Amino acid sequence: MSGIVQEYIVDYIRGLIGEDTGVLKDLEDYATKEHVPIVQKEVASFLKFMVTIQKPKKILELGTAIGYSSILMNIASNGNSIITTIERERDMIDIAEKNIQNYGFEKKIKILEGDCLEILPKLEEKYDLIFMDAGKGHYNDFFPYCLKLLEYNGIIIADNVLFRGMVASDELVQKRKITIVKRMRTYLDMLCNNNELVTSVIPIGDGIAITTRRNTDE
Ligand code: SAH
Ligand code: MG
Repeated sequence: MSGIVQEYIVDYIRGLIGEDTGVLKDLEDYATKEHVPIVQKEVASFLKFMVTIQKPKKILELGTAIGYSSILMNIASNGNSIITTIERERDMIDIAEKNIQNYGFEKKIKILEGDCLEILPKLEEKYDLIFMDAGKGHYNDFFPYCLKLLEYNGIIIADNVLFRGMVASDELVQKRKITIVKRMRTYLDMLCNNNELVTSVIPIGDGIAITTRRNTDE
C-alpha cells in the first residue's frame, strides 16, 4: 500500500498502462530484482505524457539511479532531447552508464557524478524540464538552483512529495522520517504560497508536484 491512493485504483490504472517493453522492461525487471527505487508506473506514464506535450529539448534530472527515467523521457521525446542527470553513488553510475551504452543512448544522456548540491551551482545551461528525484530531504535546497536553471516556460516535476502519505498525515509519520517529512511540507508550502509560481500537487505514485512560472503575458 502506497499510503497515497487506494490499492484498487492503483491496480486498475496499472492494468490500463500495461507492461513496458524492450529496454524499459529490462530496466524495470532489474530494478525490481535489485530493489532499486525507480519511478512508479503511474509517474512513468505521467512523465511520458508531459514530455509528449511539452517537447523539451533539454532535460535535467536529479537522481539517475540505473537510468530508467532518463531513458524513458528520451524515448518519449523520440530521441529529440538531451538529458543531463546527476547521481552521487558510484555503483549506480556504473550500472546506468552500462545501460546507456548498451541500449544506445550515449549521445542523448549524460551523467554528472556528484551531489546535486555540489553540481547544481556549477550548471549554466537552461532546461525546459527538470525532474527532481533525489534527496527527498533537500528539495528546498535544490529548488532555487533549479528555478534559476529553468527556461522561462519550463516545468519542474518533483517526485515523492507525499512520501508514503506521511507528508499529509501525522498519524502515518515514522519517527525516523520526521525530518524529511517536515522539510517536504516546507517545500510544498513554499511552492504553493509563491505568487510567481503555479503548482499542482498530484497524488499519483508517491506524490508529485508540478511547478511552472505564473503566466504574466498580457
Ligand atoms: N530517477 C530514477 C530514480 C532515482 S532514485 C528513476 O526513476 O529511474 C534516487 C537516486 O538519487 C539514488 O540513486 C540516489 O543515490 C541518488 N541521490 C540521492 N541523494 C542525492 C544527492 N544529494 N545528489 C545526487 N544523487 C543523489
Ligand atoms: Mg522517486
